[in-house]
Amino acid sequence: MTARIIDGKAVAAALRARLAKQVAALPFRPGLAVVLVGDNPASAIYVRGKDRAANAVGIAARTICLPMDVSEEALITQIARLNADPAVDGILVQLPLPPQIASQGVIEAVDPDKDVDGFHPLNIGRLAIGRPELVPCTPAGVMKLLAEAGISLEGARALVLGRSTIVGRPMAVLLLAANATVTMAHSRTRDLAAECRRADIIVAAAGRPELVRGDWIAPGATVIDVGVNRLADGRLVGDVAFAEAVRVAGAITPVPGGVGPMTIACLLENTVTAALRRRSGN
Ligand code: NAP
Repeated sequence: MTARIIDGKAVAAALRARLAKQVAALPFRPGLAVVLVGDNPASAIYVRGKDRAANAVGIAARTICLPMDVSEEALITQIARLNADPAVDGILVQLPLPPQIASQGVIEAVDPDKDVDGFHPLNIGRLAIGRPELVPCTPAGVMKLLAEAGISLEGARALVLGRSTIVGRPMAVLLLAANATVTMAHSRTRDLAAECRRADIIVAAAGRPELVRGDWIAPGATVIDVGVNRLADGRLVGDVAFAEAVRVAGAITPVPGGVGPMTIACLLENTVTAALRRRSGN
């Protein structure tokens, strides 16, 4: 058996096309401000990608670059300026931040109505009580991939591997809201392989190259690989051993070309959502 490949690139392209149409019909251009601190090359690549994708759908995106040694106070002052700027609908602070800055304080400085990453405690709380507004982009993208692939979540056993606040936790909440029976695994989980084998759906977000092996997967299960890991030889791999998993799973996302493009497309969708809410006064 060879798994069906869930093509994140195609699903993301369709979402971007829909957003471009929606934006073209608006009487204003939604605005996105991306704040980049320092010169981390990976962050710079991500930010360029977000900027390009946003402008391509008609969102007015700009990047504010701050030096590596910027103080937390100066960064928060910059965010306050963006909060007050009526042309800015969405604010994203690219993580990670340098060590002198406490990320949580920065996340909480962003106006929750402009928090297009969905990381502000108010948005996390809204999600947790089942009244989501701006949902973290990566788990939101995974939900869209599952829907597009026609995977039934009702009553399904879903295993979320990883419990970070940006991926694992909101992912589990979204799957629970869709009536899956959710298990969360992490580095202290006793028998990870056994937990995986019980799952109808595995969402792997551990940041460990090829951690999930083919024989950990139940035949026909759906495997969503969030992991992005650069190996010493330069190859990009996920958290799932793809060559093994593709022979067992029913459906699987590749890395690259699976979850990654969906994260950016969902960021654009959050920006449009934030713009519509703010500008209609809701
Ligand atoms: P993170 O904050 O480092 O969290 C990793 C989680 O995995 C933690 O909860 C950790 O458990 C768990 N874990 C680590 N090693 C494990 C192991 N051997 N067995 C079981 N659990 C283990 O990472 P993250 O920010 O959530 O990101 C996860 C991965 O997704 C990374 O590869 C990242 O690059 C990728 N990512 C991709 C996208 C995208 O758009 N495609 C977006 C965001 C992240 P503990 O809590 O016990 O430490």
